[in-house]
Amino acid sequence: MADSSARTRPRRVTAPPVEWLVMTERASTEPSVFTRILRGEIPGEVVLSTDEVFVLQDIAPKAPLHLLVIPKTDAYRDVAELAEGDPKLLAHMVEVARTVATQAGYDSFRLVFNTGLGAGQTVFHVHAHVLGGDASEDTMTAGMAGEGRDA
Ligand code: 5GP
Repeated sequence: MADSSARTRPRRVTAPPVEWLVMTERASTEPSVFTRILRGEIPGEVVLSTDEVFVLQDIAPKAPLHLLVIPKTDAYRDVAELAEGDPKLLAHMVEVARTVATQAGYDSFRLVFNTGLGAGQTVFHVHAHVLGGDASEDTMTAGMAGEGRDA
């Protein structure tokens, strides 16, 4: 016989962890902010475009040169997925990164792929940060920690 008290017995209800909420956003089918910029739905300073990628001035630069190299496809959430799914596209991103850094006068530059929430990734449409000038490790991590991204 069913235990009818089970229906009325109070259950402990807990709020979902913050990370769960962020994961929900990550799993969203909404176009990424980069796709929306590419479509012209929201503004963005695109400095170079090829058939496969575009290069965007970062809205919150962490170094004198801070560009984002972004595939036009949003099929890959991070560089690990991209490396597995389309290594040629990854190589093209690196080549384009070198081109834009050189054009901006930087022979040396840093290429950063934040990969996963814990590393500070906030946009789950793979992109490479191209950093030139004073872009120390502290500069990158300070900016990210300051925005409270790593819950
Ligand atoms: P992540 O934190 O995912 O590695 O990098 C996302 C980057 O996208 C950040 O550096 C952030 O400043 C940049 N970003 C986010 N939203 C926008 C936007 O609307 N326009 C531009 N240009 N950059 C953005």
